[in-house]
Amino acid sequence: MIDAHIHLDQYEDAAIDQLIKKMRPSGVDGLISVSTNLESSKTNLALSKLYPGIVHPAFGFHPENPLPSQEELRQLLSWMQLHAQYMIAVGEIGLPYYLRRQMTREGSDIDMTAYVQLLEQFLGFAKQHDKPVVLHAVYEDADLACDLLEKHHIHKAHFHWFKGAKHTVQRMAERGYYISFTPDLLNEAEIIELARSYPLDRVMVETDGPWPFKGIFEGQLTQPPMILEVAHAWASIQKITFEAACLQLRENTRRFYGI
Ligand SMILES: [Zn+2]
Repeated sequence: MIDAHIHLDQYEDAAIDQLIKKMRPSGVDGLISVSTNLESSKTNLALSKLYPGIVHPAFGFHPENPLPSQEELRQLLSWMQLHAQYMIAVGEIGLPYYLRRQMTREGSDIDMTAYVQLLEQFLGFAKQHDKPVVLHAVYEDADLACDLLEKHHIHKAHFHWFKGAKHTVQRMAERGYYISFTPDLLNEAEIIELARSYPLDRVMVETDGPWPFKGIFEGQLTQPPMILEVAHAWASIQKITFEAACLQLRENTRRFYGI
């Protein structure tokens, strides 16, 4: 199995080695490790060299952060250009849904035009280098992300930890975009409903680690083998065996990322 979305660079060094050692006997032998900025991209590249064939790095800028300066962005894009051959995808990129909500609560404004322009620069890069994109775009932001994908003629898009309206889900499924489920598939009604309706061959499983989960994982460090529980949950929603679910999810991830 492959954890389709994790921030491996955000774990402590000693924890990373333990995590890789522990996950392989449990049946998880691949990770898509996404980046939040230039420093994070460099760390993920180094980790992919340390664990070749296991850690597959994506490079990008996480949208739930303050905007980068022009100089920071120029440095990140030129570094990505130089290291494009090592990059499995462009990500994590997208739109700042939670940051926007927080700023609105605090009574301040967010420059959405600038975030859209930033996303478009990464989409342009992905198109130019023929790379898939890993998107953080939930609820109404996903509609905007769909518009931008169409504008840039990008077909290979993975909306990680997706949540959104029915019409958006339908549009994404029709366009053949992929989504992935985290351990919240075990207890979130909204996500269970989504899993019921989304095409079988367009879904993956992820931890978004080290993001902490509640329920049966409360108080535990998030680790890639947790995707096996997500696969179990998906299997019972689809009324298929666990083995069939694992095969399908693995095949989907391999097809999307070309691994
Ligand atoms: Zn993430």
